[in-house]
Amino acid sequence: MTYTKTAQKFYEDILTQKRNDGLFKEEYIITSPQGSWITVQFPEGAPEKRVLNLCSNNYLGLSSHPDIIKSAHDGLDKRGYGMSSVRFICGTQDTHRELEKKMSSFLGTEDTILFGSCFDANGAVFEALLTEEDAIFSDQLVHASIIDGERLAKKVTRFIYPHSDMTELEKLLKESNARIKMIITDGVFSMDGDIAKLDEITELAEKYQAMVFVDDSHSTGFIGKTGRGTAEYYGVMDKVDLITTTFGKALGGATGGCVSGKKEMIAMLRQAGRPYLFSNALMPAVVSATIKVLDILSENTDRRDKLAELAIFWRESLEKAGFELKAGNTPIIPIMLYDAKLAQDFARELFEEGVYVRGFFFPVVAQGQARIRTQMSAGLEKADLETALQSFIKVGKKLGVIK
Ligand SMILES: *Cc1c(COP(=O)(O)O)cnc(C)c1O
Repeated sequence: MTYTKTAQKFYEDILTQKRNDGLFKEEYIITSPQGSWITVQFPEGAPEKRVLNLCSNNYLGLSSHPDIIKSAHDGLDKRGYGMSSVRFICGTQDTHRELEKKMSSFLGTEDTILFGSCFDANGAVFEALLTEEDAIFSDQLVHASIIDGERLAKKVTRFIYPHSDMTELEKLLKESNARIKMIITDGVFSMDGDIAKLDEITELAEKYQAMVFVDDSHSTGFIGKTGRGTAEYYGVMDKVDLITTTFGKALGGATGGCVSGKKEMIAMLRQAGRPYLFSNALMPAVVSATIKVLDILSENTDRRDKLAELAIFWRESLEKAGFELKAGNTPIIPIMLYDAKLAQDFARELFEEGVYVRGFFFPVVAQGQARIRTQMSAGLEKADLETALQSFIKVGKKLGVIK
């Protein structure tokens, strides 16, 4: 045990620098269930404050829904707390298979494999499915977990095309003579809230015999007419080969993820996906609750429709007030501030006004691209947003962001 002075100082200096630069991320302590209204302590131990939450991934308002909680209880009562095993040893219950089948039918795919998280799902795919004869074509702005997954597949050639630049993607595909070509993109990009050009991507894929892999973590449940995701949005559900998504966002927001798609690739992942082989099976309560989420979403599109309406309303309200937004038409609505410290100050002032958002800055977004990312939820009401707008205007004027 030799935690040297040198090591200690190395870390201290970095942390001090982050604090001085206004880049230190502090956690606000939530003392209520997740929802549109939450109680928060900040700093830790301070009196609780009730605030409107505009920064969760609780897109469909299901995170604390009574029916979901009940299904989680059912799972706990009928199948126990934990599996104490990976799937292939003694960690597969009937409900794990039921969820995999439900997810396949929801997404219109052949088969599905569950993972402990979508981060793990993305960590499994490339290494298990590709070799040195193959190539990956990756959008520049894909999620960190995809980048890490690609890094694990060390022998696979990797091309990165500028964000949503179809001309560059085509050039790369044309020049490649790889055996398997895999195009990978986020469906909805989490920081900008824009939708990948899946219509054009699937066309290029056909033209150059490439596979299409979409991470729909910020889409599943609410993008597309019935919430099947970005492939449904573009009418190309039969042209996407592989989808990863998370249960940690719109689909109840607990934990877990999956890969869904062609059955041979799913079978390969059960044999060779390292996070699947070496990490614990999903807990039964999460499995039961996620099954219930899919049942609720298959009944009607009310939540998804309300979310879309609120997103339009909020975007238009902010624009009218003079804020600069990233263009888009998803429930992710970023307000551009460009300066990390300003983004932090903006969030802190809004918290005082009773609105909870966070400033995003490097390394979560590119240098000089700091912003407040607001996200809509079907759990919100228009009246909540009208009140929040007044707070945004007040703080915006105070900090010189709008006139
Ligand atoms: C959130 C997110 C993930 C990670 O999902 P977890 O289930 O929380 O690990 C992966 N990909 C994208 C695009 C995401 O937004």
